[in-house]
Amino acid sequence: MFTLPKLAYDLTALEPVISARTMEFHYNKHHQAYIDNLNKMIIGTELENMSLEEIIVKTGGQPDKQGIFNNAGQHFNHDFFWQSLCPVVKNSGPSQAAVEALNKDFGSLDKFKTEFIAAAGSLFGSGWVWLVKEADQLKIVKMFNADNPIAHGFKPVLGLDVWEHSYYLDYQNRRLDFASAVLEKVINWEFVAKNILS
Ligand code: MN
Repeated sequence: MFTLPKLAYDLTALEPVISARTMEFHYNKHHQAYIDNLNKMIIGTELENMSLEEIIVKTGGQPDKQGIFNNAGQHFNHDFFWQSLCPVVKNSGPSQAAVEALNKDFGSLDKFKTEFIAAAGSLFGSGWVWLVKEADQLKIVKMFNADNPIAHGFKPVLGLDVWEHSYYLDYQNRRLDFASAVLEKVINWEFVAKNILS
């Protein structure tokens, strides 16, 4: 059975970029609900003792397993999203290793940020923007609903939730402002660098 992973920071720690109120709903309600639904759907099935990644790969692209894929994917995505963030006060900015890798594939750190934020703004409906690694190449991909890098054989490096529940209480319709504030102020660059280098 899956359980809600503990956060490395308090629900207030991402303020003012992401409010504690948003975190209470997003982490305690939305993320918990995906986990509860997933557990209910896999209990007593062959999936019950598999890892989350195995469940995602096993159920991806199968219409009769869509519900399980969605909830497993959202559990993975949210866990990865929380790890992609860190409190404003602890944010030391991108490490040299991360900057060098982003320079190589995007031209510059600023170009990467601009492209990532544009992807967040142009994703129609609910979904995620990911920085992923494919072979040794970093790229930005947009994914809808619960879709995730694991299902496509990509290595996730950084994930941003652009479902409305992720920002609406704090930013209403201003998704670009949300994406920009997250990228500038609360990215866990140590986590990003670790994912780039591993
Ligand atoms: Mn979400």
